[in-house]
Amino acid sequence: MSADAIVVGGGIGGLSTAYALSRQGLRVRVLEQAKEFGEVGAGIQIAPNCTRILHEYGLLDEAKSLGVLPTSMVMRDAVDGTELTRLDLVDLERTYGFPYMVIHRSDLHGLFLRACQRAGVDLRTDQRVVGYTNTADGARVQLADGRVEEAPVVIAADGLHSVARTLLVNDEPVSSAYVAYRAAVPIAQVEREVDLSEVVVHVGPGCHFVHYGLRGGEMLNQVAVFRSPKALAGEEDWGTPDELDEAFDRTSAEVREGIPLMWRDRWWRMYDRDPVMTWVHGRIALLGDAAHPPLQYMAQGAIMAIEDGWVLAEHVGRRRTETGAVDWPTVLAAYEAVRPEHCRRVVLTARAWGELWHLDGEQRLQRNALLRARDTHDYTYTDWIYGPTALTPDQEPPMYPVVPLGSADLVDAP
Ligand SMILES: Cc1cc2nc3c(=O)[nH]c(=O)nc-3n(C[C@H](O)[C@H](O)[C@H](O)COP(=O)(O)OP(=O)(O)OC[C@H]3O[C@@H](n4cnc5c(N)ncnc54)[C@H](O)[C@@H]3O)c2cc1C
Repeated sequence: MSADAIVVGGGIGGLSTAYALSRQGLRVRVLEQAKEFGEVGAGIQIAPNCTRILHEYGLLDEAKSLGVLPTSMVMRDAVDGTELTRLDLVDLERTYGFPYMVIHRSDLHGLFLRACQRAGVDLRTDQRVVGYTNTADGARVQLADGRVEEAPVVIAADGLHSVARTLLVNDEPVSSAYVAYRAAVPIAQVEREVDLSEVVVHVGPGCHFVHYGLRGGEMLNQVAVFRSPKALAGEEDWGTPDELDEAFDRTSAEVREGIPLMWRDRWWRMYDRDPVMTWVHGRIALLGDAAHPPLQYMAQGAIMAIEDGWVLAEHVGRRRTETGAVDWPTVLAAYEAVRPEHCRRVVLTARAWGELWHLDGEQRLQRNALLRARDTHDYTYTDWIYGPTALTPDQEPPMYPVVPLGSADLVDAP
């Protein structure tokens, strides 16, 4: 059977988009290179700009039953352990109308996989796409085994190392020289006291450490991120476990107690890409990490991918011709009019946020003073991101005001 849309890549971006398009009555085919659909990794944070969409999809209750709804997000100094600032996530839910959640990646991915199966999405594994071509009224993908698939539109959701991006944009991922270690462990294995009602981020010189509960509190998720001296020295083999231990040597007892639990058999080198504003090439459109891979400091990468699919599908719903056909050039233009600018802001803010987290010396003290002075219920810095996803450029909220580090009052700081 022919497809109305092909989605390349069955990660969170590809599956959520396939589901969103199928809700508009389209016959969607997903081509995933792996032998099975799945997600590697541990936990993921999903903010109100994502849970709002899950609610609209009718998936929020299932997501809540799989995840944890923490009541606070706390930022601590990773060296002295003191609290710098916090978000009251109960008030945040009241403010934005939808909750902040943490969930296992495989549970979020599985939620979309089941939704796609129920919606009749044609889900195909072991399909490696190696080429893309525009045709007169659609686009074609070429598979590694020589087969060809065609549809009126092709959405490339093939991740950070996107083949589509290489062919259409031809840029390179940018290395941050930071590496992430992860762990999701049964809570019984955790010897230290952990308050699972909190998402905690410990920010330190050249490193940070995050932890929160998963699966109703049965598991603890941890992420340890640090700048690799070997990466800075230009060595090939960087981010290795010996560097992990050294990076957290100077941190507080709470952080150091978490490090032995990290998985040591795999790690994730952190790359993003410089923002690009052209995501649509004829009937081929980039989506998710293929379009805008961020550093993870804003915890918005998967969320942006989910928002991309929602925006695309909303415009499909609004721009059907009288016969029910989709006016793809107009839909894709509407998608490209709004999403690249939003994602550009997130990708660049994530870089800046990461730099702020990892400061040392006097700048660390200035940052700490500024964060301590923030009112818990001040949403100036979250309104632009946690509010409703913009469908058109005029709905995109203004950015937050930038506060220079030098304005911090170190004399009266505690
Ligand atoms: C440490 C860390 C923490 C993070 N925390 C958060 C967080 O808290 N919140 C958040 O929102 N985001 C977070 N992110 C970011 C988030 O994980 C990614 O942005 C998101 O998973 C991207 O989804 P995607 O579907 O676009 O890409 P991917 O997940 O990379 O999926 C791409 C899919 O395409 C397939 N594929 C690739 N090439 C081909 C091909 N040629 N043919 C066919 N299939 C192909 C792949 O097998 C894969 O299944 C974090 C990332 C990291 C590294």
